[in-house]
Amino acid sequence: MTHQRFCDSGQSSISNYDLDVLRPFTMKIRNNLTALAFNEMAYNFSKAGMENLTRTQSHVWFLSCFEPVVFVCCINSCICYTGKYANLNECPKCKTSHLDKSGQARCTFSYMPLIPRLRALMSNRTYATRLQYCADEHAKTSTRMPGMTTDIFNGLHYRSLLGEHVVVGDRTLPHNYFSDHCDIALGFTTNGFAPFKKRKHTAWILLIFNYNLPPDQHFQKDNILCAGIIPSPKKPWDADSFIYLLIQELLELVDSVSTYDSLLSSLFALHAYVITGFGDIPTVSMLMHMKGHNGSRPCRMCEIQGIGIPDLQNRTLYVLLSRRDHPKPTDVVEYHPARLPLRSHDSFMAQAKSVLSVPTEIRQEELSKVYGIKGVPLLSALGSLRFPQSFPYDFMHLIWENLIPNLVLFWSGNYKGMDEGQPYVLPPDMWQVVGATSAKATKMIPSSFGAPIPNPAKDSSYFTSSTWSVWSLFIAPTVLQRRFPDEHYYQHFCSLVRILNLCLQFEISEEEINEIKLGIREWVVDYERCVPPFVSEKSKVGSIHTPSLYYQHKPEWLPVCPLTIHALLHIPDQIRWMGPCWTTWAFPIERQCRYFQRIIHSRLNLYANMSQHLTDLSQLRQVKILYNLTDEELGKPPKHISLQTKRLEDCKSRPGTFTLV
Ligand SMILES: [Zn+2]
Ligand SMILES: [Zn+2]
Repeated sequence: MTHQRFCDSGQSSISNYDLDVLRPFTMKIRNNLTALAFNEMAYNFSKAGMENLTRTQSHVWFLSCFEPVVFVCCINSCICYTGKYANLNECPKCKTSHLDKSGQARCTFSYMPLIPRLRALMSNRTYATRLQYCADEHAKTSTRMPGMTTDIFNGLHYRSLLGEHVVVGDRTLPHNYFSDHCDIALGFTTNGFAPFKKRKHTAWILLIFNYNLPPDQHFQKDNILCAGIIPSPKKPWDADSFIYLLIQELLELVDSVSTYDSLLSSLFALHAYVITGFGDIPTVSMLMHMKGHNGSRPCRMCEIQGIGIPDLQNRTLYVLLSRRDHPKPTDVVEYHPARLPLRSHDSFMAQAKSVLSVPTEIRQEELSKVYGIKGVPLLSALGSLRFPQSFPYDFMHLIWENLIPNLVLFWSGNYKGMDEGQPYVLPPDMWQVVGATSAKATKMIPSSFGAPIPNPAKDSSYFTSSTWSVWSLFIAPTVLQRRFPDEHYYQHFCSLVRILNLCLQFEISEEEINEIKLGIREWVVDYERCVPPFVSEKSKVGSIHTPSLYYQHKPEWLPVCPLTIHALLHIPDQIRWMGPCWTTWAFPIERQCRYFQRIIHSRLNLYANMSQHLTDLSQLRQVKILYNLTDEELGKPPKHISLQTKRLEDCKSRPGTFTLV
C-alpha cells in the first residue's frame, strides 16, 4: 500500500518499506539508543528487514530532503569561519589553526537550515491550518476581549510593525510586516549549557520559536526549531559568526521565499520575521553586543549608571535607585522608578555605530564603557527587531534563578556572608522548621501543580527554577507566616507573590499591568528602603511603611542590589511591548538544554554525537511533516491506561463502590 501525502513540491508518497525503515529509527531517537544498540538490533532483526544505522540514516536523509550545512569553526569555539572570517586560516582570537596536520577541519559547526523546515510546515495541511492562529483565532479573541493582552500579537511591538514597510538594508520593500495572513512571526534565543554539568565546558544551543502556532503549541518540543549547537568548550567570542547563515536565511525570508501552500494548492511568497530575542542576561548581552551586567551602564533597557562599593577594589558595579548615602554618588543621585532614562532603538543604534566609528581601540573601549554597548549587533540587520524593546528580560531567570534563591539566602543567613545580626535572618531552628514543613507540604499538593519540592533548608542546591516557582507561589506564603523577627519582611514577600501571580496570568488586562507597575516600583523601593518622594505615593496605595528592608541605604551593602533587582522595574513595559511574561520566558529553552544533556552517551566525540543526534532528530521531524505521519504510524505504541486512571474510571462508572488505597 502506498500513502499519498502532500509535499512542498506537490504530491509525495511514502511506501511500506519507508515506514519499516523509519519505525526503528524513530524508536532509536525516542529512546536515545546508542549506535551500538541499534546495529545489534539490526543484526538480530535483519530477517525482518531492519537496516543498519548508516543505511537507515541515509534513507531518512533521502526522504527528508534536508541536511545540515557544515562550517569549520575554532577548536576553542571562539568563531565560526563564516562572513568576514570565511577566508582566514587561523582564529583571530586564540590564533589556533582551523585545520590539523592532515588538512582536516579541527572542529565543525552544523547549521540546520530554517527555510526548508518552514516550507515543509506550509506544505502540510494540518500545520498550514495551525499557522493561521494569529489571523484566525487570535483575531477573534482580540475582538471578544478588547483591552486584554493575550499573546505576543497584542504587544505594542508587533502592532507597530503592522503599519511599517519592510526594510532590508537600504531597500524599502513594497509590503508591510505581517501584511499577509501567512506571514510567520519568529522568536530567537540561544543558551549555554554544560554537557557534563560542569560550568567549565559550555555548548550553546540556537533555538527558533514559531509564534504563528497556537500558544499551547509554540513551545512544544516538536515545534521548536533548533538551528544548531555551538560546540563547547567556551562561550563564543564572536557569536554573530555562528548565526551568520541564520541571518542570511532570515533576510531571504524577509524578502520572500516561494513556497507551496497546501491550503490553496498553489505557490505563494512566504515571509517570516523575527520579532523577539530572549534568554538570560549574559546571553542577551552577547547577542546585543552589550558590555554585560558588570558594565557601567549594565541595563539593556535604560541608561541607569552602575555604582561600586566605596573604598574597595571590587570592580563590580550595582544598580540601585537612590545613591544619596553613597560617599561618591553618580551624576544622578536619585533615580525615579517611573522616570528611568529608557533606551530607544535610535539612541541604541546611534551609540553602537559611534563606538565603531572612533579610530583607536582605547577610545572604542572608553566609549563602550560609557554606553554599555560594544558595537553593532548582526541581529540589527533584521528590521523587525527593536533594540532593546525586542529583547525583554527573561522572567524565569529574574525571579526563579535569582530573586527567590537570593531571598532564601538572606532569610537563611547565607547571603555573601553579610547577614549576621540582620533583622531578615530567621533563627536557625526556625529556618529548619520552615524547610521541613515545606518538604512535607509538597506531599499534599497535586503533581499537576509541579514537581515535588526538596527541603530548602537542607537541599537548596537541588532546586530548579520550576521547583522554586512552586515553593514561592504555593508553599512559602504559608510556611513563612509569623516566622520573621520583623513582620515587615513577611508582608514584603507576600506583596511580591501577589505581583508574581499577576505577571503569570495567560491573559492580562491594562488595569492589571498598571497594578503590576505600581506594585513592582513599591517593592523595589521598599527593598532598598523607602525614599521620601515615594512615602506619599506609597501611602495612597496602602503600602507597608518600614524603616529598612534589605539594602538599608548602606553603601557597603551594595551587593544586595544586583541588576536582577533593578530589571524587575522593566517588567510592566515589557508586557506592554511583547505580551504576557510567558511569551518570552526561558522554561522551554532550559527543557531543550536538559534534553541534549540527557542524550549524551560518551565524553568522546561529544560534539559530533550531539550534532549527529540533532541531524537525526531534525530529519525525522522533517519526514514526519512532509509525509504527514502520526506517532502511531511511526511505531509509537498506544498509551496504556495507568492503574490510577483505571481506578478513577471505575470510580466514575460505579460510584459508591470505590475505595482509595
Ligand atoms: Zn579561537
Ligand atoms: Zn534599566
